[in-house]
Amino acid sequence: MSATSASSAQFPCVDWLFLDLNSYFASVEQQLNPALRGKPVAVVPVDSDTTCAIAASHEAKKYGIKTGTNIGEARRRCPDLITVMAGHDMYVEFHHEIIKEVERHFPVQDICSIDEMACKLDPPRRPLDAATSLAKRIKQGLRDRIGECITCSIGLAPNRFLAKVASDMQKPDGLVALLPEELPGRLLEMELSDLCGIGRRMEPRLHACGIRTMAELWAADRETLHRAWGGVVGDRFWHGLHGGPTEEEVPPTRRTIGHSHVLAPELRTPPAAGVVARRLMLKAASRLRRMKYHAGHMHLSVRVEHGPRFEAQARFEESADSIVLSRVLAELWQQVMSQARWQRVKKVSVTLFNLVADSTPRQLELFTPAAELAAKEQRENLSRILDDINQLHGRDSVVIGFTPDTVRTFSGTKIAFTRIPDREEFQE
Ligand SMILES: [Mg+2]
Repeated sequence: MSATSASSAQFPCVDWLFLDLNSYFASVEQQLNPALRGKPVAVVPVDSDTTCAIAASHEAKKYGIKTGTNIGEARRRCPDLITVMAGHDMYVEFHHEIIKEVERHFPVQDICSIDEMACKLDPPRRPLDAATSLAKRIKQGLRDRIGECITCSIGLAPNRFLAKVASDMQKPDGLVALLPEELPGRLLEMELSDLCGIGRRMEPRLHACGIRTMAELWAADRETLHRAWGGVVGDRFWHGLHGGPTEEEVPPTRRTIGHSHVLAPELRTPPAAGVVARRLMLKAASRLRRMKYHAGHMHLSVRVEHGPRFEAQARFEESADSIVLSRVLAELWQQVMSQARWQRVKKVSVTLFNLVADSTPRQLELFTPAAELAAKEQRENLSRILDDINQLHGRDSVVIGFTPDTVRTFSGTKIAFTRIPDREEFQE
C-alpha cells in the first residue's frame, strides 16, 4: 500500500450522500393510517384485481410483492394483502416536507425522483465519521418530524453513482459507505442488473463483451465499456463505477412543457377526447405562466385506439395566453383528427416548445402597436387571474371552453418519476 492510500485509509472520506426512501408510497399510507402499520399493503392506481401495485410495504415485499406485481397474483401470494388507492397529492406533500427536513441538516443538490435525493458533501462533512453522523441525524429527523414510518436507506461514496448503489445495498433503513480505497469491496456482492444503468437490454450486450459478473465488470477497461454501451455513456459508467468524478448533471434549462394522458374508454370518442386535449393544454399553459415563460410552438399527438399515432404542430408568436393557445390547439386538433379519420382516441399529448422567459424582450413586440400590446397583456392577465381562482377554489373552478364536469376525473396529476409535480399542479 502506498503512503497516500495508507493515510487516506486512516481518514477515509466520502463526497456524496444519496438518500432513497423505503417503500415510499406505502410508508406514507402507513404514516397517515396507523391501521395499515405492520401490515402487507399494496398501493394501486385503480381499484381492480387486474391492475398492478405501484408500491408495496416492507411487509408485502416479504411475499415477493413489489412495484409492478399484478394485484390478482399478489392476493394469491398474500391473502391478507390490503390495497390502498394512491393519493399522489399526499406523496408530493410529504416529498416537499421531507426535502425541507433533509435541508435542516444539509442542502440537497439533486432531487432525483419523488423518493430519491443526493447531497454533495462539503469538506467538513467528508470524513466518514462526519458523513455517517450527518446520515444518522437525517434519519432521526425524518422519524421525529415527518413520521415514524418514513425510513430511508442512505449511501455514502466518492461519487453520486456509487452513493446510489450503496443506498440500494441495505433495505430498509440502511446506511452503507463505499470507500474509494476499499473498492471494489462490497460491489462484488451485487449482480450486474442491480446497477442503475444496466437494464434488460444492456445486460446481453455486456455478456457479448465477456462480462457476466461484477468482478468481470470491475476488471473491464474503459474502452471495453465504451464498446459495450456504444459510446461515451460507457466511459461515464466506467468512471462512475471506479469512484472517479462523474459529470453530475446540471439541471438543463427547460425547453418544453407537456402533458399526456391515456384516455379511459368512456372518453375515447372524438368530442370527449377533444376536451381532454384542451384540458391538457390549459394545464400546460398554467404551468407555463407559473414558471414565467411564453411558448412559441405547440405539438399535438394523438394515438387512435387500435392504430398509429397522428401529429401536427404549429409555430406562433410567443404567448402565455390560454385563449391564444386554445385557438392554436383547435386548429391542430382539426388537422390531426381529420388525418385520423375521427377514430376513437386512446392517448393525447400536448407539448409547448420554444419557451422564452417573460423577461426576454420579444422581437415582434417592437413592431406591435401599443393598443394591441395592451390588449394582449390584458388577456394574459385574465389567464393569470383564472390560475389564481383555480388555485384558491380548486381545479376547474373556472375553465375556458368546456364545462367543468365533463372531464373532472381524468386529468389527475400523475406522479412523474423524473419530475416532481409542484403543489400548485394539483389545482390546475
Ligand atoms: Mg425508494
